Amino acid sequence: MTRVFNFSAGPAVLPESVLQTAAAEMLDWHGSGMSVMEMSHRGKEFIAIHAKAEALLRSLLAIPANYKVLFMQGGAIGENAIVPMNMLRGKASADYVNTGEWSKKSIKEAKKYGGVKVAASAESSGFNHVPKQDTWQLDPDAAYVHICSNETIGGVEYHWTPETGSVPLVADMSSNILSRPIDVSKYGLIYGGAQKNIGPAGLTIVIVRDDLIGHALPITPSAFDYKTQADNDSMFNTPPTYAIYIAGLVFEWIQAQGGLVAIEAHNRAKAALLYDFLDASRFYSSPVAREDRSLMNVPFKLKNEALDDAFLKGAQARGMLQLKGHRSVGGMRASIYNAMPIAGVQALVGYMKEFEAQHA
Ligand code: PMP
Repeated sequence: MTRVFNFSAGPAVLPESVLQTAAAEMLDWHGSGMSVMEMSHRGKEFIAIHAKAEALLRSLLAIPANYKVLFMQGGAIGENAIVPMNMLRGKASADYVNTGEWSKKSIKEAKKYGGVKVAASAESSGFNHVPKQDTWQLDPDAAYVHICSNETIGGVEYHWTPETGSVPLVADMSSNILSRPIDVSKYGLIYGGAQKNIGPAGLTIVIVRDDLIGHALPITPSAFDYKTQADNDSMFNTPPTYAIYIAGLVFEWIQAQGGLVAIEAHNRAKAALLYDFLDASRFYSSPVAREDRSLMNVPFKLKNEALDDAFLKGAQARGMLQLKGHRSVGGMRASIYNAMPIAGVQALVGYMKEFEAQHA
């Protein structure tokens, strides 16, 4: 068996030990005689799997007791609609900060359900930074302030938490959730798709302060009303059971690494290896302002774009996959989520040096 270094932005690399456990438990989970995939979501086995996954997530992120954890479906793109439907709470509009392609999608979708004010935007500078908070024009009467804490395509990440006073802060954390400790109490709502740092696609995590639940627009589908899901322990409809099981194994793996403090240190070391190399090079460059660079998604450019295809071919031949940048920005992107071992980043930097020596 040969495993590659998979730099995909998502679905993405998972810890090998998690995949091994899942394989070993595939036909018979803990003597149940069934695969987790075959279990009723209402049976005692799955209820235990679900409860354990939630407890681990609560412990890893130190989620306060007045927050609900919902395991939903629909992905982060679904949440772009589900958030305004649930969170407008009779207010005329919400504030959105535009830091890139994912923010833009959130803004476009939210406009179907209510007013949207763009409080700040980095679009005119090619989405290469996070606008400083003192430039934001926040509406004190906004329903919420929406940010994307890590722009997966642009590689721009918040390394600070916005202050929004009594207006709830809502964050799309799809691509940096569980990459480091956060203070959940600073947020009204956090959401993210699972397929980067958490597990398989199909599971959406929502962490929401309980006073914000119960105000959904009448048109809200019941399955997407946070209150319906909270009242039914995320089992109003059949939840993505297998994805929740794998997520639980990933949470256990994070705990075994030493929790989020240790995970952050590891992520910083990996990202520094790559960014230090990019900054020292005249052959490659990073398009993102230093202080806003993502620890998870590292876009980079070859100075000579004509070499892009040769670079990708050589990487593939060495077992390094999915390094092509998103079609909207071009260049390269290395996604180095929690489960990417440092050996993967070392191998990439080694190859980049070799490629430079051959082509500079
Ligand atoms: N937001 C961010 C930051 C993302 O990275 C992604 C997926 N790449 C999405 C939203 C959309 O997620 P999904 O396709 O799971 O709906």
